Amino acid sequence: PFDTLASDFYDFASTLTDDEREALGRLREHLEREVKPVVNEAWEKAEFPHDILPGLFATDAARYSWPETAPFANSAVFRGMLALELSRVDASVATFLGVQDGLTMGSIGVCGSDEQRAEWLPKLASGEIIGAFGLTEPLSGSDSAQGLRTTATRDADTGDWLLNGQKRWIGNATFSDITIIWAKDAETGKVLGFIVPTDTPGYTATKIAGKISLRAVQNADITLENVRVPERLRLQNANSFRDTAAVLRLTRAGVAWSSVGVAIGAYEAAVRYSKERIQFGKPIAAHQLIQDLLSKCLGNITASLAMCVRVSEMHDAGTQRDEHSALAKAYCTARMRETVAWAREIFGGNGIVLDYDVARFFADAEALYSYEGTREMNALIVGRAITGEAAFV
Ligand code: FAD
Repeated sequence: PFDTLASDFYDFASTLTDDEREALGRLREHLEREVKPVVNEAWEKAEFPHDILPGLFATDAARYSWPETAPFANSAVFRGMLALELSRVDASVATFLGVQDGLTMGSIGVCGSDEQRAEWLPKLASGEIIGAFGLTEPLSGSDSAQGLRTTATRDADTGDWLLNGQKRWIGNATFSDITIIWAKDAETGKVLGFIVPTDTPGYTATKIAGKISLRAVQNADITLENVRVPERLRLQNANSFRDTAAVLRLTRAGVAWSSVGVAIGAYEAAVRYSKERIQFGKPIAAHQLIQDLLSKCLGNITASLAMCVRVSEMHDAGTQRDEHSALAKAYCTARMRETVAWAREIFGGNGIVLDYDVARFFADAEALYSYEGTREMNALIVGRAITGEAAFV
């Protein structure tokens, strides 16, 4: 039951295979039936809707990224469309899966040994365990390539690692079973990654309250006090921040796709509303300035989709570099921010209440705009590629 959306104006979905279309159709139908009805309440209460998880994982949504778990061979464009479909319904639920599938499984998929991939990817893909990704710290956000303060110290006697430090903003971490912790080797200063079971003594996570964006996502402050991790849980192929960046290259393209989904969710709500709301004796959709706003939204969505599709094709061709996904993340999230504001405008006063959905998309866009590297930092990654000068070291 997968029809190309009217908002996929140039039919970018036309390259999908039958298997991919069938999977997206199942996901869309599931999201409309089981997820959409609960997201506004979850947002208002700032609680994650745990009850949806068994059904969500049963759609295979977290299975497609790695050969160990994928039910069929699939393209990066398909996986991007999956993120789009999730975000079109709710950015918090999409972010939950972005953390599980993108950041956590991505870290293990990109930086784990074959044994680590075989042990952890299937459990995460099925939802048997929940993961989180801890890179950002209270004193280190944009500069995490060089500014990490969390340390990993090798215990000479046992070969274990002792982790000490703090993390901030870590999504899913109030209830995750494992958290990937990025820390500097106390001896060499190199950035290493660890799979940390959250019941390890010395590990504590507390919820960040009072958010005005992605309220259903649970973000945590984490404290690590002599958290002992055996060498077998160190990501064996994470040897410097370059390896962390390889994970972010993947996930930033995912956020670009998600931002198109958020823009589409807001835009489609605005199209529907504009046909129902009567002012000056006719639906507001019949007023020229409303049509202008709608066509500007569709222009942003279409340009962003084109960029996402190409970046995903480059991923599959093996030619995608950091600056390619950074440009997509920076550009598409900026276009999303404009689009949700125009869509919200079309609702007048109703645009600021949750009942009409657009208010949630509007508020959630702010978090997508800033996480996985702010617009400025992604612009600087592109600037480095343009000029050959790194402006942020
Ligand atoms: P800062 O780095 O303090 O930046 C503040 C401002 O200064 C920004 O505008 C920035 O662009 C600008 N700035 C900084 N340096 C420069 C420069 N050299 N030139 C120009 N401008 C500059 N992190 C995780 O590790 N795991 C997660 O799961 C996670 N989830 C998140 C979920 C949410 C909802 C949010 C809000 C954040 C999340 N983050 C997570 C953290 C996120 O990645 C950071 O917030 C982001 O990288 C920005 O860092 P910062 O907030 O410390 O801002």
